[in-house]
Amino acid sequence: MRSIDEILHDLRDEVRLTLKGNIDVSEVEFEGADLAIYTREPKKFADNGDLVRNLAKKLRARVVIRPDPSVLMGQDETIEKIKYIVPVDANISNYHFDLDTGEVIVEAEKPGIVIGKQGDTLREITKFTGWMPKVVRTPPIESKTVKNIRNFMRSCIDERKDFLRSIGRTIHRDIAPRDNWIRVTTLGGCREVGRSCFLISTPDTRILVDCGVNVGSDDSGTPFLYVPEVTPLTQIDAVVVTHAHLDHSGLVPLLFKYGYKGPVYCTPPTRDLMALLQIDYVAVAAKDGKTIPYDSAMVREMLKRTLTIDYGTVTDIAPDVKLTFHNAGHILGSAICHFHVGNGAHNVVITGDHKYEKSRLFDAAVNKFPRVETVFTESTYGGGKANQPPRKVAEKEFQHIIQETIKREGTVIIPAFAVGRSQEVMIVIEEGIRKGIIDNVPVYLDGMIWEATAIHASHPEYLNADLRDMIFHKGSNPFLNECFKQVDSHTMRRKIIDEPQPCVILATAGMMNGGPVMEYFRAFAPEEKNTIIFVGYQAEGTMGQRIQKGWKEIPLPRNSQGNSNGSGTVKINLEIRTVDGFSGHSDKQQLLNYIRKMNPRPSFVLCEHGDEKSCTQFSSSIYSKLKIKSQAPKNLETFRLE
Ligand code: ZN
Repeated sequence: MRSIDEILHDLRDEVRLTLKGNIDVSEVEFEGADLAIYTREPKKFADNGDLVRNLAKKLRARVVIRPDPSVLMGQDETIEKIKYIVPVDANISNYHFDLDTGEVIVEAEKPGIVIGKQGDTLREITKFTGWMPKVVRTPPIESKTVKNIRNFMRSCIDERKDFLRSIGRTIHRDIAPRDNWIRVTTLGGCREVGRSCFLISTPDTRILVDCGVNVGSDDSGTPFLYVPEVTPLTQIDAVVVTHAHLDHSGLVPLLFKYGYKGPVYCTPPTRDLMALLQIDYVAVAAKDGKTIPYDSAMVREMLKRTLTIDYGTVTDIAPDVKLTFHNAGHILGSAICHFHVGNGAHNVVITGDHKYEKSRLFDAAVNKFPRVETVFTESTYGGGKANQPPRKVAEKEFQHIIQETIKREGTVIIPAFAVGRSQEVMIVIEEGIRKGIIDNVPVYLDGMIWEATAIHASHPEYLNADLRDMIFHKGSNPFLNECFKQVDSHTMRRKIIDEPQPCVILATAGMMNGGPVMEYFRAFAPEEKNTIIFVGYQAEGTMGQRIQKGWKEIPLPRNSQGNSNGSGTVKINLEIRTVDGFSGHSDKQQLLNYIRKMNPRPSFVLCEHGDEKSCTQFSSSIYSKLKIKSQAPKNLETFRLE
């Protein structure tokens, strides 16, 4: 067995041998999953694409070429140079320098012009500045979150470089041939929705997948993180986050509070969205006088150690584990996680939440893999009613309910998750107004919905092609329709409530366990002319589910969202409607089809993320209809997979 220093030494020799002294190499180092080759002649690599491919093949590593810091031109000077090289009609709007990678990210309205004929202009930029240019289209809406995260990452660049190198050395170390076993332990999110958490372990590696919080529960909101398989947290090698919803990502910062120092893997949009939701989560908890599990400093700790991976990129995250993310169709950046464990001994897919149908925002979830033996699948709608109505029918009904309410001068309240359904619902309302199906009334967005929308616009490559085209085509970007009004102050919220006029209010939280929606509900619930429309899943025990079930009166603590008006209970007289079909989750038929059409066919399916009945019924359906071994595990079970 070679030490990591010996491995690196051999790799350096190999690189130099391959390049035969033709190109300068100043340093060779592991950085996360990649082997970074630093050079004072980045242009030579840029001119010779095959060279990098051949190196990667020969070294059996993912090779990235980085300009040696000594050849990088100063940032201001680089900007001047790029302005000089690139024709003005490219309309460059922004530059970001990524010292992590030696990349300069150029935002332009016409990326093609920055790229030039067969990349000519890009090569010019590298030749004169040393920086590797990467061109992206200017996002039509600017996101504060994305900007803040970028600035923050820039501020901790040195720390991050050290971190990437130490992670790289851990991932690429040699491991002794030992017994081959793989186990998965369920730590939360089984026969329940909330606190999703799994542990994949092998003789050499422990990987935590998701670390969610059940926001609706006071006593069982946290995964079982105190069991010996996981404590101390320092023995965890990596954390993988399927998507940004708090029931999957809410307690990731808590891990850092309790001593975890390793990497967090997720897609780029998941990183931005989870930071947004986590910061809001602690802010809302503080406002409601609840115990705060961690503060924003822990979110920053997490960001420092977050490594993003795009869909479809196979990445080593441990000596014996490769991870690949695939589109899950659920929310922006949501991922089906494919783990290739123990040098191919076993392949596990953990779906996170998924939608196996094309929606207004995303393509259908991916279920084609090189290999798969075991699947952990969500089961939210695995029991009860088999199917949701077709999307088209749901959209029509939804537009109709809004228009009926507007006609009788009422207000429509739509409780929504900031991320996912809100953007889908916005598109359908905008279309309704544009086509005259809904009167032209203001549509208020309250509680981070606008910011979440801006994050969507910052990651267009994660949206389906139809929407991507729409948001970049001036005049057809549905999110920029004038009907949308962002509620950005308490005064504005009070005005909407105190001077009611027919309108639509889209507000968080989606399951009505806090957030600005409660303030609107308190104000508009007593009047019959108003309507509340549920478009998302309402978990057991949430306020949303009680209202949906038809409670005539609900207790609403006075301090909720700082509102001191009204009594402790609210009478409910408004119309209560539920429109199924907007869900970001697969319905029962889609859940089954996702497994049925999975290629290759898995040999074991475990059903989680659903209430008890949904998980057990879905598991029985898989066995009876597809003849695949299945189970609905409880929390704290361990399965040996090999
Ligand atoms: Zn989700």
